[in-house]
Amino acid sequence: MNTNLIDTSHMTAGARAALEMAEAARDDRQHSGFAASLFFGSPQLDRLLPFPKQSDHDKDQGDAFLHRLDQVLTNLADPDEIDATGEIPDDLLSALALIGAFGIKIPVKYGGLGLSQTNYSRAAARLGATCGSLTALISAHQSIGAPQPLILFGTEDQKARYLPRCARGEISAFALTESDVGSDPARIKTVATRSADGTHYILNGEKLWCTNGTRAGIIVVMAHTPTADKPHATTAFIVETSWPGVEIVRRCHFLGLKALYNGVIHFDDVRVPVENVLGGEGRGLKVALTTLNTGRITLPAACAGLAHRCLEISTRWARSREQWGRPIARHSAITRKLADMAADTFALDGVVQYVSGLVDVDKNADVRLEAALGKLWGTERSWRIVDDTMQIRGGRGYETAASLKARGEPAEPVERFFRDARINTIFEGSSEIMRLFIAREALDPHLKIGAEAVNSTLPWKQRAKAAMRAGLFYAHWYPAKWLPLGSGDADDHVHPAFQSDLHAIHALSRKLARSLFYAMLRHGPALEKRQVLLGKLVDIGAELFAWSCAIGHAGQLVVDAGTPAAEVDRVLRLCEHFGKLQRTRIRALFASLQAGPSDAESLAVVDALPQA
Ligand SMILES: Cc1cc2nc3c(=O)[nH]c(=O)nc-3n(C[C@H](O)[C@H](O)[C@H](O)COP(=O)(O)OP(=O)(O)OC[C@H]3O[C@@H](n4cnc5c(N)ncnc54)[C@H](O)[C@@H]3O)c2cc1C
Repeated sequence: MNTNLIDTSHMTAGARAALEMAEAARDDRQHSGFAASLFFGSPQLDRLLPFPKQSDHDKDQGDAFLHRLDQVLTNLADPDEIDATGEIPDDLLSALALIGAFGIKIPVKYGGLGLSQTNYSRAAARLGATCGSLTALISAHQSIGAPQPLILFGTEDQKARYLPRCARGEISAFALTESDVGSDPARIKTVATRSADGTHYILNGEKLWCTNGTRAGIIVVMAHTPTADKPHATTAFIVETSWPGVEIVRRCHFLGLKALYNGVIHFDDVRVPVENVLGGEGRGLKVALTTLNTGRITLPAACAGLAHRCLEISTRWARSREQWGRPIARHSAITRKLADMAADTFALDGVVQYVSGLVDVDKNADVRLEAALGKLWGTERSWRIVDDTMQIRGGRGYETAASLKARGEPAEPVERFFRDARINTIFEGSSEIMRLFIAREALDPHLKIGAEAVNSTLPWKQRAKAAMRAGLFYAHWYPAKWLPLGSGDADDHVHPAFQSDLHAIHALSRKLARSLFYAMLRHGPALEKRQVLLGKLVDIGAELFAWSCAIGHAGQLVVDAGTPAAEVDRVLRLCEHFGKLQRTRIRALFASLQAGPSDAESLAVVDALPQA
């Protein structure tokens, strides 16, 4: 870790170890997208615009696969039955394997379909609109299970041995979480010790909540591999569940995702050949975090599909249901919910299209910040959309699809969606952890410039020099954050209808950068602990990011000659509504920065709670 960046001198040993591991595992590439610049007060819109557009060839390839996927889902998938029985039928899984749904992104040379990230996201949206359990199975297999880390870190031999199996439909999984290891993976207890002859590792320990674990043939397992110089090192291993010593202890059951094949997996003296180390010894956390960084795009994509389905159900119901003499869609409280839902869903499409497009332009693109913002914003907003759908459906929203059907009403699965969607803000990085992660990335340029000056572990001469450098930099940077500067040529790519939104984004981005700067001046290294404040600043950045993506997405549709006039009109309306929403949301977040109870006051309330 670059110990100059963060002052760890006041931390406990555990906190320091966790931070040092997280820092060492940080991706050291340059951000590919424009999100970081939003936090720095100078949006680099040339990284957003022209907005990524799927080529006709890529779209045709995706359309062909989506057609086959739709056929399989329509003919063989009964999501309410899957939910009721807690099982995904074998014939459905076989049919999905046959059309290549287990190897969507796996290169053709390894037996996969070799489709783009954009097409993979489109497939995730289709699944997300249909069945949460199936989405989780396909996504855990391809987004975080064996294929993704193999593509990113695998040796040629590993790819040749495992990718064809994955593409054919052998299910894979990703095992990081343990009973005592959730959001903070630094204290993994599962341990792997190298054999005396150096040919293999002996793996011992237990993993919790491994999605697909009870059916997987291949699991990527993170284990502790301490050495004298790296006592906290972790390593990623490709483990086959047929090997002696691998035991599926039990299947876990949840509020939703009833057919998740999720379990506790025990490893008892499992011999793992050294050839199955993935990404190199001691690089396990890097493999895990980098895998999650890209894999995270799938969740907002699935959420976008779910949001579209909710909007469709809500609109249909609100237009047909009459109360107090008119359709509930015409009572303004419900009208507003529908309009907000539609605008948020449109923006979510923009976010997914943008982040997927970045990966398609450059397979090695570093989208950690954009994917994290997409995950945070997409899962939080879609949860709100599902909740509003339940509210709009009234009592029927709370009733199961089977019960509705038994009474002769349309079996709208809102109750199932509600149960299934709740996990999205928890797994693959909870919202709280996403905010910390995004804050760390957002503060990175400032840490590089100023942290040395306030790091009490460094010699005073080094700190004084650093303070001079930082002073010079901020003497230019800070006044510029008050000047109404645009992004030059990039602004010309924005459709005239969105120019005022663009100006607002520039101005609010500068205000966000100033607010972050004040927070750093006020709290110094202790800012890391001010999670409520940091969380609000991150939320402002997330709203600005979604807004920018919505404008890019809309601009592209509006100028496209193939977009029908009615669609152009609809998009302009949605964007105007979204712009108004975003101004209100961001204004409220800025107003809340200095308002409300302080952290110390909250702590006092919590400390005064009776012992349970
Ligand atoms: C259905 C399901 C499927 C899953 N699939 C997989 C899988 O395939 N593979 C796998 O490895 N794991 C999997 N998980 C585990 C999942 O990723 C974890 O639940 C998640 O990482 C959170 O860990 P935790 O539940 O232990 O919560 P904890 O880490 O104990 O956190 C509890 C709460 O405290 C908050 N919190 C924690 N630390 C901080 C902090 N520093 N600051 C502020 N707030 C904090 C969290 O946000 C959360 O709200 C799955 C879990 C579930 C429920």
